[in-house]
Amino acid sequence: MRIAIAGCGQLARMLALAGWEMGHQFSFIADPGEGTDCVAGLGPVCAWDPNTSIVELYGELGQPDVVTIEKEHVDIDLMEGLAEHCLVAPSPEAIRVCQHRGREKTLLQSLGIMTASFHLVEDAPALIDAVNNVGYPAFVKSCEQGYDGQNQWHLKDSAALDALAQQMPSLPPLVVEGAVHFDRELSLIAARSVSGDIALYPLAENRHREGILLTSEVPAPNVPDSTLEQATQIAHTLLEHWSYIGVLSIELFDEGGKLRVNELAPRVHNSGHWSQDADVTSQFSNHIRAITDCRPGNPTPSGYTGMVNLLGRSADRSLSSADDISLHWYTKSIRSRRKVGHLNVRASERQQLQRRLSEIEAALYPDNEPL
Ligand code: AMP
Repeated sequence: MRIAIAGCGQLARMLALAGWEMGHQFSFIADPGEGTDCVAGLGPVCAWDPNTSIVELYGELGQPDVVTIEKEHVDIDLMEGLAEHCLVAPSPEAIRVCQHRGREKTLLQSLGIMTASFHLVEDAPALIDAVNNVGYPAFVKSCEQGYDGQNQWHLKDSAALDALAQQMPSLPPLVVEGAVHFDRELSLIAARSVSGDIALYPLAENRHREGILLTSEVPAPNVPDSTLEQATQIAHTLLEHWSYIGVLSIELFDEGGKLRVNELAPRVHNSGHWSQDADVTSQFSNHIRAITDCRPGNPTPSGYTGMVNLLGRSADRSLSSADDISLHWYTKSIRSRRKVGHLNVRASERQQLQRRLSEIEAALYPDNEPL
C-alpha cells in the first residue's frame, strides 16, 4: 500500500523502515522549516503550509491509501481534507483531542479515567485561583505544543506564581495541575486495527531526566493484577471510544497502585522503542499493520528488555557493539538534550537487565551531569 506520514522525524523514519519490510511505499509531509534528515532516502518529502491545495498535496504524496502521523501537532484542517481522499488513521478527531491537554483531560474525565486535578486558565486571575485551588507544588503546562518538559512551569511557592501571572498576557491557554505524588511513571502502548483487533504491550516503567524520557524497563517490575487491570481498562475504553486505528500511547502515574493518566499520544512512543529488539512485533510494525487492516502481531516479550535514550550524545563502540545492545541512530545532528538515538537492551533475567541499564546510563551520563 501507499502510506503517507505527517512529520519527518525519527518516529516517521522507524515507521517507514518497519513498513518497507512489508512492501509498503512511503511519502512524508513536512511543515515549513521542518528538518527531514531522518527520512532522507525513504520516499518523497512534500512541503505543506496552509496555502497549499490539499488536492495537489494528495497528488504529490502519490495518492496514498492511508495517511498517518508521527506527531500530534499536525494541522487538523489538513487531516480532515485528506480524509476526503483516503483513510486517515488515527482519526482527525482523536488527533484533535490529543493535541490539546485541556481537551484530552476533559475527555478522560468524561470517560471516568483518573487524571491529576486540573483547571484550564486563560488569564492571570484564573491562574491564581487555580493554583490556590490545587495547592503547591503546581504544574502549569501550555495546552498545546508542550513536550519533553517544554512550556511547563513547576510552581513551588507564591513568588513563582506571581512571576508567571505577570507573564500571563503573553502566554497561550494553560492547564494547571495539582501535583500527583506518584511512586513511579508507567506507560502502555496499545494498537487497534481497522477491524478492531487489539494488542497491548506490557507496561513499561519509565525514568525521566530534566523532563525527558531517559530509560524504560519492560515489563515494569512489581505490577499487581489490579494495576494491570486498570491499565487494560483505560486502554480499551479509549480505543473503543474513538474506534481508534493505529498505536495509542498512554503515559500513567502509579500512585500507590492507583493509575492516573498523565498524557496520551496518538502515535508510536519513545517508551515503546524497546519492542524493536525483543522478539515481538514492534510498535512500528504493529502501527503499520493496524492502519493497513492486518491483525496486530505478538506484543509480549518472553524475556526482559529496556531502552536508554541517547540525549545530546552518541554511544561509544564498547556500548554499540555489545552483544546485548542494539543501537538505533536517527541520523540527526547532535545538540544538547536532543534525542539523537537510543540503545535497546535485552536480558534473560530482571536483575541482569537492571544492572545493564544502570551501567549504560552511568557510561553515557557520568556524574549525573546536566544534559
Ligand atoms: P509531561 O510533559 O506532562 O509528560 O510532564 C513531564 C514530567 O513532569 C512528567 O513525566 C512527570 O515526571 C512530571 N509531571 C508532570 N505533571 C505532573 C503532575 N501533575 N504531578 C507530578 N509530576 C508531574
